[in-house]
Amino acid sequence: MSAITGFICDESYFWHQMGNGALNKRSGGWIQADTHAENPETKRRIKNLLERSKYMDELHQIAPRSATREEIAMNHSTTYIDRIKELSDAGGGDAGVHAIVGPDSYEIALKSAGGVLTSVDAVMEERVQNAYALVRPPGHHAEPEEGMGFCLFNNVAIAAKYARKKYGLKRILILDWDVHHGNGTETAFEGDSDVLFISVHQENIFPKDRGAITYTGKGHGEGYNVNIELPAGTGDEGYRYTFDHLIVPIIEQYEPELIFVSAGQDASRFDPIGRMLLTADGYFQMSKHIRRLADKHSNGRLIACHEGGYSTAYAPFCTLRVIEALRGKYSQVDDPFDLGFHEGPIYPHQKESVQRAVDIQSSYWNLK
Ligand SMILES: [Zn+2]
Repeated sequence: MSAITGFICDESYFWHQMGNGALNKRSGGWIQADTHAENPETKRRIKNLLERSKYMDELHQIAPRSATREEIAMNHSTTYIDRIKELSDAGGGDAGVHAIVGPDSYEIALKSAGGVLTSVDAVMEERVQNAYALVRPPGHHAEPEEGMGFCLFNNVAIAAKYARKKYGLKRILILDWDVHHGNGTETAFEGDSDVLFISVHQENIFPKDRGAITYTGKGHGEGYNVNIELPAGTGDEGYRYTFDHLIVPIIEQYEPELIFVSAGQDASRFDPIGRMLLTADGYFQMSKHIRRLADKHSNGRLIACHEGGYSTAYAPFCTLRVIEALRGKYSQVDDPFDLGFHEGPIYPHQKESVQRAVDIQSSYWNLK
């Protein structure tokens, strides 16, 4: 069934500069610096594909507003916010581990967070049913007092707090399928039961000390933090199995009133800094699941907030499939990288990883 799908983007998102590097590292003086992994092209080419295929005509484009300092302060200390502004005004600097600030990054990051807030209002006021916010810089690694992993302000955490406060929601779901653990979002809600956080990520990738399946939240949030670690090499079938046995049953029981997806397309099989094997169709299937759950439980209210995705060639096709599932209508674009078979029959060690998470989560949810 087709839906009215919002699309939020802004030219300034492509102006945030991460500088050069060898992928995500400094080249260390040993080799000519290449483009940083988190560069504008990985995102701009998504927008280009939507335009070139005319799928943009299917979407309801909404111009993002900037978040206010007070809105950012719902999730970050004012000291940290001031530091980002100072670095940005000074022309750039480091805000944490792999968290580069460039000229004007402060203003761009306000608009990035604001893009997700704009999506929240559009969905809650029923101007659209769901929305894709192609924002940059991304947010899910950003901690209250520290930038991390290319993230400055935690867009999705700020938006969930904004939605909770403005619309009085009692059950918000954040599903994070970025290949990396959404540590900043986990920190934001680990003590809360009114936000269920589910992160499915490659095990032991980034950050190294976060995302263990044994961590299930604390205080009132105990049982509302679901970490699923999958081994490198998990593909479409492994993710499908994870959704069927863990993610979908938990969401069915939680009955969210609003759903966010931290949409990282860096679990794709061509991503340079992830080691998973999802195809564009794998992303489509996951998105279809979540769209169905939104239609059933949250009156369709679903916001996909862009996080990672570093294959300039493939991230656009994966993201297009996510948006097609939200809209409920196919584009005319074939996946040019489709080899005619699905990567990965599921392997026993992948099933075992899911089963370990099922065993832990069975204390909180009925997963039989
Ligand atoms: Zn990522």
